[in-house]
Amino acid sequence: MPVGTGGTVKGVPQDILEELGVQILLGNTYHLYLRPGVEQVRNLGGLHRFMSWPRAILTDSGGFQVFSLSGLRKVTEEGVTFRSHLDGSSHFFTPESAMEAQIGLGADIIMAFDECTEYPADPARARASMEMTLRWAERSKKYFEEHKHEVPWSSRLSSVIGRLQTQVPRSARDDNIVAETATPTLFGIVQGGMDPQLRKESAERTLEIGFPGYAIGGLSVGEPRHLTREIVEATLEHLPADKPRYLMGVGTPEEIVEYANLGVDMMDCVLPTRAARHGLLFTSEGKISIKQARYAADDNPLDQNCACRVCTRYSRAYLRHLYASNELLAQVLNSIHNLSFYLDTMRRVRDAISLGERARFLSDLRSARKP
Ligand SMILES: [Zn+2]
Repeated sequence: MPVGTGGTVKGVPQDILEELGVQILLGNTYHLYLRPGVEQVRNLGGLHRFMSWPRAILTDSGGFQVFSLSGLRKVTEEGVTFRSHLDGSSHFFTPESAMEAQIGLGADIIMAFDECTEYPADPARARASMEMTLRWAERSKKYFEEHKHEVPWSSRLSSVIGRLQTQVPRSARDDNIVAETATPTLFGIVQGGMDPQLRKESAERTLEIGFPGYAIGGLSVGEPRHLTREIVEATLEHLPADKPRYLMGVGTPEEIVEYANLGVDMMDCVLPTRAARHGLLFTSEGKISIKQARYAADDNPLDQNCACRVCTRYSRAYLRHLYASNELLAQVLNSIHNLSFYLDTMRRVRDAISLGERARFLSDLRSARKP
């Protein structure tokens, strides 16, 4: 899932995301709540219609972003008080208000409100944090079940359809009023720090609460890579294979192949777009930094093996020039290629799975990355 933090995948228009084959986007509740505000999005028909995105959207609960504010937040049993990074204003998120916000945005998949345990955390702290996430999962589910029909289109449905039929000419935007009768789906989140036993317990007790999909949270918080992998493996074995299993905030192209091989179905990461804006490009021959002078006269495409609209049209020399000149187009083209590379990687994983194989190109990817 490409990350569309504030209702946009930075630098990439929605029609190009469609062309790239993006099936689902991630939106950040924290950012959308602060700006433009949940009520604003709700009044405009929900996030799908607001950003003209007819395909699926998953929103996070805001917990991870709030967690990232460290010095600006205070956690209690009731919820989290935090200060906006935009203007310093004070806000309060609870499991209930996080559900209300995500239902109000109109996402297809919404996430339970959890506490992302920091790293490192001592055993007592990791347990206390996991226990709170479980209590918050119960509260999230309770509120969700009672309010899941309060989607942005429920109150507007008759008036919107009326307008479409009588006054407003049909356009691409009108096609984005999707499945008005749909309600969102709530996923639970497993925590437990870096302790496999706690992870097992968190998984089992989250399963007892019962969700149609399960996420593994609390990773990519500064721990070493081998530990991430160990904890992912230790958690996955306790989550049902017939429900979506979502690993949050991971990772490099090699990692997404590796985790898909372990049984992860969904991942999100800002890496392809964030790296692109810093001139770091993922290619079939490894990662390259387009800002380097060695590309100034390189007339080759960025990646010989990539069929994206950037690689089929522009040279490394041109991309290097755009980046060195601080042109806006550099960020746009770099982001499109990196997303294309990630989506291509996942397509190859899916193809391998449908052929009944593990994604065997993992070793090729790895050897290509060796300097
Ligand atoms: Zn490309």
